[in-house]
Amino acid sequence: MNFSSKLLENAVNEISQLPGIGKRTALRLVLHLLKRPKEQTHFLAKSLIGLVDDIKLCKKCHNISDVELCEICTNHNRNEEIVCVVEDVRDVMAIESTAQYKGLYHVLGGKISPIEGIGPQNLTIDSLIEKIKSGDIKEVIFALSSTMEGDTTNFYIFKQIERYEIKTSTIARGISVGDELEYADEVTLGRSIVNRIPFENSLQR
Ligand SMILES: [Zn+2]
Repeated sequence: MNFSSKLLENAVNEISQLPGIGKRTALRLVLHLLKRPKEQTHFLAKSLIGLVDDIKLCKKCHNISDVELCEICTNHNRNEEIVCVVEDVRDVMAIESTAQYKGLYHVLGGKISPIEGIGPQNLTIDSLIEKIKSGDIKEVIFALSSTMEGDTTNFYIFKQIERYEIKTSTIARGISVGDELEYADEVTLGRSIVNRIPFENSLQR
């Protein structure tokens, strides 16, 4: 691409580094930004700076939050004896939208994936085990997507917590194999949490 302006070129280069956006799409977006009122783009830029500078991870569940302890962890109406293990904030949002779950979460921040170089030490597994050791948790629900990485991660955690006296369960799979939680419809997802099954049963499939 031959740019008539260095400023234009820089902006296109930056935007084209986002996933799924090529140079052409980036150029189209940048030209769109130039056409609309300046204030709107200032607002966009400010919200992105605020996002990366000020966002926190909840100290307890590792979910994305504006404060040290997220709204779910500080809500006394939640059942603190149940912890649902998920990959990221999208899963928390999906499960919350079902209104069928009243326990707490533990956000792993990813799944074990040797191909991508993600091992247990890159996730918040140690912090989950610490929580379980404290003895306040009665049940852990695995709600990772049923991909190979999801299954590997579930199994790894299961092996780590097997020795503690807690119930382990997994969300019932109304959701077909390989589907990400975030794409499951609310009714199916809600039902699969309510009808969760003992984790051991999911291993015999
Ligand atoms: Zn939290």
